[in-house]
Amino acid sequence: MPVIDLRSDTVTQPTAGMRAAMQAAELGDDVYGEDPTVNQLERYLAAELGFAAALFVPSGTMSNLLGLMAHCERGDEYIVGQQAHTYKYEGGGAAVLGSIQPQPIEGEADGSLDLDKVEAAIKQDDFHFARTRLLALENTMQGKVLSLDYLASARALCERRGLALHLDGARLYNAAVKLGVPARTITEHFDSVSVCLSKGLGAPIGSVLCGGEALIGKARRLRKMVGGGMRQAGMLAAAGLYALQHQVERLADDHAHAEQLAAGLRELGWVVEPVQTNMVYVQAGEQADALKAFCAQQGIQLSAAPRLRMVTHLDISAEDVRRVIEAFAAFQN
Ligand SMILES: *Cc1c(COP(=O)(O)O)cnc(C)c1O
Repeated sequence: MPVIDLRSDTVTQPTAGMRAAMQAAELGDDVYGEDPTVNQLERYLAAELGFAAALFVPSGTMSNLLGLMAHCERGDEYIVGQQAHTYKYEGGGAAVLGSIQPQPIEGEADGSLDLDKVEAAIKQDDFHFARTRLLALENTMQGKVLSLDYLASARALCERRGLALHLDGARLYNAAVKLGVPARTITEHFDSVSVCLSKGLGAPIGSVLCGGEALIGKARRLRKMVGGGMRQAGMLAAAGLYALQHQVERLADDHAHAEQLAAGLRELGWVVEPVQTNMVYVQAGEQADALKAFCAQQGIQLSAAPRLRMVTHLDISAEDVRRVIEAFAAFQN
């Protein structure tokens, strides 16, 4: 039986239609700007999200890094959540490679950053201080969707205080599908957005940074500098384009499967956090390691953490979810 892998939505295999699109892609050298499929992907996503330009890069980490470095100079600062991917899970790249100081603040339970706390963290114009330039938000944040009202308020704050606003939209489309709005309704509040094609969208590789002409021009130079200039990258861009054109609406299935998993586990007595998109967080506590080992014997791959995250994706079916719930029940007995 195939393994049911709930560790992340990065583990998906390209679908048959995606492989066919990759096979058929027209290619050129993208460092010369001559890969028609990369150019098509960049134009497509920029237009869809309401930006003038876009840049295809190998990873979300690079996309965020280039975004931060394009907004901020050495000695500038960005405000970010303590648990945000850009701050916590990207090796400190903005500081290491961009000499950008992060100003982390504690996030709220709903995945947002309290805008009063953000405002209080903005430093005065004084040569003792780093120059606060940017606010970075994440949506979805650990599976939670930021409300459109919140985004409008964040935008208003940034306008008022002269900050740029960046979105780590690794799972932007999960948020859009959950809200039932075009992704642009979310991205219109931002100066730049990073979108992962390799998460729930199901492409094997790739992220896209969207923004204005000047910002993306700067990011293009930085991409070369950090070694992200790829050549016949159209094979990968084709996968991303296919995902954007065929595998967005189906994210609703992942959300339904996450609900199904949460409901089944709650019925067994597990404490499960409310589910909004494709992430289920279960209090596994001290049982985390034993649970992981037990499930592995049943062909189910889990992470081992006291606050256990399980992620649904296009290779997880309703039947798989039933098997996982059964495994948890068997573990208890
Ligand atoms: C996965 C992810 C990224 C980028 O990750 P890569 O593995 O570098 O593509 C950025 N932000 C969030 C929130 C993510 O989940």
